[in-house]
Amino acid sequence: MSAERPLIGVLALQGDVREHTAALEAGGARVLPVRRQSELADVVGLVIPGGESTTISRLLETFELLEPLRARLAAGMPAYGSCAGMILLAEKVLDGRPDQHQLGGLDMIVRRNAFGRQVDSFEEDLDFADIEGGPVHAVFIRAPWVESTSPTVRVLATVPETPTAGAAAGRIVAVRQGSVLATAFHPELTGDLRVHRLFVDIVRGA
Ligand code: GLN
Repeated sequence: MSAERPLIGVLALQGDVREHTAALEAGGARVLPVRRQSELADVVGLVIPGGESTTISRLLETFELLEPLRARLAAGMPAYGSCAGMILLAEKVLDGRPDQHQLGGLDMIVRRNAFGRQVDSFEEDLDFADIEGGPVHAVFIRAPWVESTSPTVRVLATVPETPTAGAAAGRIVAVRQGSVLATAFHPELTGDLRVHRLFVDIVRGA
């Protein structure tokens, strides 16, 4: 049965913990909020919500989760990072704080707060590889974009090249490397379960 409804953790230090929990449960998983090492040890996959990557980074140290989480990721634990979660999973961040930690898992460079002040938040319909049923409506909130990827990272979605997209046109905003998934946007806010379902499927297949 546990393979049917895998126990997935939601890192519960900051961010949309409740919304991710609801989306994962509706998407076929059982969920455990993760704040300590013993909880991390119990889950077979982890969602890292959006929020503020510098704050989550600091809290990971305070809660003594930084090294255990790096170790689980290095050992192949499936993970899904949204927004700040995407930043944390990247190997390298541009416009980050010098003391912010990277967890690794995605061999790519992200740019923090990439879309600039004028477009602090915006919404866009994205074609999303691996997701059927039409475009995914994406909500971006002070989001990063992916500046560059290694060939091992698969690009799942980019910002459409519309006349109004400006510097954001064509930027990578969803990726997957092995069992690690990340989106620059927040699918937990829209009621569209498809990204969470994709992650539950990744966990089931891992
Ligand atoms: N700008 C935030 C950061 O740097 C991310 C914003 C978000 O997660 N919505 O971490």
